[in-house]
Amino acid sequence: MPKNIFTIDYEDWMTTSHYKAVVKDTNKKYLLEKPTHQLLDLLERHQVKATFFVLGQVAKDCSLLIRAINNKGHEIANHGYSHTPIHFLSPNDFIHELRETNKILEDITQKKVKGFRAPFFSLNQKSPWVIDTLIEEGFVYDSSIFPMKTPRYGVNKAPLKPYYISSENILRHSQQQELIEFPISIYKSNFLKIPSAGGIYGRFLPEKIFLKLLKEIHKQNLIHLYIHPWELINKRELAPHPGWIKNILANYNSEQYINKLEKAIQLFQFTNIETWIAENKSYFNQY
Ligand SMILES: [Zn+2]
Repeated sequence: MPKNIFTIDYEDWMTTSHYKAVVKDTNKKYLLEKPTHQLLDLLERHQVKATFFVLGQVAKDCSLLIRAINNKGHEIANHGYSHTPIHFLSPNDFIHELRETNKILEDITQKKVKGFRAPFFSLNQKSPWVIDTLIEEGFVYDSSIFPMKTPRYGVNKAPLKPYYISSENILRHSQQQELIEFPISIYKSNFLKIPSAGGIYGRFLPEKIFLKLLKEIHKQNLIHLYIHPWELINKRELAPHPGWIKNILANYNSEQYINKLEKAIQLFQFTNIETWIAENKSYFNQY
């Protein structure tokens, strides 16, 4: 079994769906310092290199943090500029966001950006043109597919492991082999699908169930785990109140999450996408 994949959507609370409505110019304040160092320490303790999908706006405002992440040898990839879902962007706006973000990231890392993740996993059957744009812009891979339908995003019937994607059919491996897709892992049995490999799902699930589901996923596939830095801290005192439901969604279990992630990292071997691609050239022969 190839190594598992660890990715981070590198954005702050201001651009999340929970807080978007209550963010004003007067209360904008980055809270990335603490969770970034928690994450870097965790990854360093276990000698794991991760992929950070960074927002252009964040890279512009917090370049020192991006430098710190890059200096630790992690991969820096593109998460768009403004965290706008694809369906609210015209193809021209999308290209503009891609290029602007790459410019800022490449200026910091002095390295070509290889990967992209759409904000809110917003790539779906309505936006296959995104694939062609990514290929034209020189991207090697995408990681925007959440392979089950949830109330806010996701596509059913997408492969649950890496495959070559094309605009012709985003749900099938493409023999053209131009852009690799790295879907997020989900647990799937004959009767049931459970989103469980990180994000809000990993945060809400009790530790035992979280680890059990990862073990089940790993019986058949590699695990692709993802998280957000803002999920690791309790923002109740630090950010404006977004209403009680959103408050729970954004903050529940946040301070225990890093320990849960550490348990997962102790159980499975993780790497970043760039390294994974280099180490698994023959993986796609199975298709
Ligand atoms: Zn995001």
